[in-house]
Amino acid sequence: MQKFSEFKYTRPDCAALTAQYVEMKKQAENAKSADELCELLKKSDELDAEFYSDYSIASIRNSIDTRDEFYNDEVEYLMENSPATSEAQSDFMRAVLASPYCAEVEKRFPKVMFTNARMAVKTSSPETVELSAKESALVHEYQKLCASAKIDFMGETLTVAQLGPHKIHPDRAHRRAAFCAEGEFYMSHADELNRIFDDLVKVRAEMAHKLGYKNFTELGYLRLTRNCYDEKMVEVFRSEVKKYIVPLVAELKKKQAQRIGVDSLKFYDDGVTFKDGNPKPIGSYDDTRAAGVNLYKNMKPITAEYIDFMDKCDLFSLIATEGKAPGGYCTSIPRYKAPFIFSNFNGTAGDVEVFTHEGGHAFADYVAERAGYPLSVQGPTMESCECHSMSMEFLAWPWLESFYGERTKEAKLAHLQNSLFFIPYGCMVDEFQHIVYNNPELTPEQRHEEWLKLEAEYRPYLDMDNLPFYSDGHGWQRQLHIYHNPFYYIDYCLAQSVSLEIFALSQKDWEDAWTHYYAFLEKAGTLTFVELLEQAGLSNPFKPGSLEKICQTVREYAENYDK
Ligand code: ZN
Repeated sequence: MQKFSEFKYTRPDCAALTAQYVEMKKQAENAKSADELCELLKKSDELDAEFYSDYSIASIRNSIDTRDEFYNDEVEYLMENSPATSEAQSDFMRAVLASPYCAEVEKRFPKVMFTNARMAVKTSSPETVELSAKESALVHEYQKLCASAKIDFMGETLTVAQLGPHKIHPDRAHRRAAFCAEGEFYMSHADELNRIFDDLVKVRAEMAHKLGYKNFTELGYLRLTRNCYDEKMVEVFRSEVKKYIVPLVAELKKKQAQRIGVDSLKFYDDGVTFKDGNPKPIGSYDDTRAAGVNLYKNMKPITAEYIDFMDKCDLFSLIATEGKAPGGYCTSIPRYKAPFIFSNFNGTAGDVEVFTHEGGHAFADYVAERAGYPLSVQGPTMESCECHSMSMEFLAWPWLESFYGERTKEAKLAHLQNSLFFIPYGCMVDEFQHIVYNNPELTPEQRHEEWLKLEAEYRPYLDMDNLPFYSDGHGWQRQLHIYHNPFYYIDYCLAQSVSLEIFALSQKDWEDAWTHYYAFLEKAGTLTFVELLEQAGLSNPFKPGSLEKICQTVREYAENYDK
């Protein structure tokens, strides 16, 4: 088994690949049978897997060290040239979909593959290729700016990720100072942050208009392949959140304030669940890694097989270092059937989530890569991917002791509450983006005002206490997704509600919860989100009332905890 460091990277020849797709488009137009068309689809799948593998390797190595010039150049080359290649591929798909043999071919693949393909070809045209490259460059600029952060704090120079533990420090003045230091960094780049986002909104609006949509929101939904729910359904979900979850969170936040001994909860208290600080992994980084590996070794035979592969191939980059891109993610390299987990360990519960959350994504990738599905349906849409990871966080509960030791009970409460608390925040991010893209003429200042209004609606219990950056409504600018991946946030909220149902099931019977979970995961991307839920016997979060049950379970758990 090869290790990640031995994985071979070759710069994809984008021009040659583009030419190949142009040729395949002609062949699709002239195909004389369903078999011929099918062969072309398989060929496209292989080309895509190869291209995606190299793209993945370059991106991973670039994010591990953003100062490395070789991979920086490679990523720049790929970002500049890949839009033309994907456009040629889309053009090929258009020819496949228009072929008289398409209906025959469709029967041989999962139905959703063609539903998705029909949506995908509507998201671009040769006229938007240049705009798409411009969009990627702006996102890259934002990421570089955040990664460049050198924040002076209490005699140290820290990255945003390294500042994380200070923001939940048991000493209130300490964590307030950390929030101030972070806020000041962002405010010192306010003009750039505003300009990058304003350009992004304009580029996205122009793209939507060129493709004939009334605004970017429509295009944004298509780009995320929302194949089983629309804007209206999302609005219903958000109003259910306002109705059931916001009041429960306010209730639980009062208890949190009592528990940590403050009379009113300030913005910088929000992440502190316990007076003597939040439970942290008890061991070294190596111990956390070992506990993460053991978790999967002991869960199920299939998870043991998966983690063994990850461990032997060294498919992790875990520790925060200078030059490393912020955040955490899981991606995969199809050529090696290899998931990859990237993170910035910082000594908090976040390190455990790398295993329980990103580990859940990686597990789903591992299973799908071995099921023999075509590449385009190996992964479902993103809210379903988040179900894999967020539910795994709860399925991991029986093994949390090896991470948290004596504070496991507290760690569980913090995890459960934070999962619930996240939903209003996520909905706020979602509603904000609807406002922004439905009203592209808003000025940066007006956007900040809109954000503040949403704060009052979704997190009325939070006092900003004149913090720089946050109290002026700029807080959304530290949310990578808003820049990087518009409308990709409600996905987390939907998935979180599914994961809370898995939690409720596991409280009664872990094996039963696992059965529902695996039924959902095993189908990979061969069904839509709503279909995946149905066949796995899980609730549909768009149905009014489904959140009420979840709130009930969380409330009971919290009440029992305090008894
Ligand atoms: Zn995730």
